[in-house]
Amino acid sequence: MTYTVTFWGTRGSIPTPGPATSRYGGNTPCVAVEGTEGQLVVLDAGTGIRGLGLDLVAKQNGAAKVEILLSHAHWDHIQGLPHFKPFFAPGNTVRIWGSRQGTASLEAILRQQMDPAVFPVPLDALVTDNELGGGGQYDVPVSWRRDFVTFLKGVDLLIHDAMYTPKELEQHRGWGHSTYEEAVTLAQDAGANKLVLFHHEPEHGDKEMDGLVAAARKFAKTRGGSLEVDAAQEGMKVTL
Ligand SMILES: [Zn+2]
Repeated sequence: MTYTVTFWGTRGSIPTPGPATSRYGGNTPCVAVEGTEGQLVVLDAGTGIRGLGLDLVAKQNGAAKVEILLSHAHWDHIQGLPHFKPFFAPGNTVRIWGSRQGTASLEAILRQQMDPAVFPVPLDALVTDNELGGGGQYDVPVSWRRDFVTFLKGVDLLIHDAMYTPKELEQHRGWGHSTYEEAVTLAQDAGANKLVLFHHEPEHGDKEMDGLVAAARKFAKTRGGSLEVDAAQEGMKVTL
């Protein structure tokens, strides 16, 4: 089975359009994974999902079947949903999967995002055959990292947050993001084939990103092994 992975949005936290980010991209997270039979799984619904939606409408409007997996419900991972065109054409089927956040259900979170006080179109205006899937709740046991390595063992491709350099992390501890060193270490521990650094820091322009990728590759090399390291660029495709 061959899969095509397309990066429609690569930026963390907030969109960063403009000439300084034109190569690595300014749209917030959205990755499409397509199988050869037309299966489509979309990872996160940042502003990058808008371009994917336009593409789907152009190619298969009324027949699109889309599974959207939300890693979590922070703005930058859901803010593209109200602008996902396949929602507005009958015949398309879109299912959204994600975890509740604390006591707030995924449906409540998405309704808030489209509440009339902050958005002109309510969630109920979506005409697609839609479904909201309950993804359960994430637990974080003490053994989470060991469990995570086991879960990832031998993956072909690991897409991982690498928002910070080790120096920047010192100013942002507890913000929920990783360094490229943590991403490389995890990928190597799991025996991944290829690592794609993702969820880029808004202050990192293309020049800073080139430096970050070079540093990550150097770090991987000093630890040995054959891990391939890249950083996500908007429009980039990886075939598995
Ligand atoms: Zn984020």
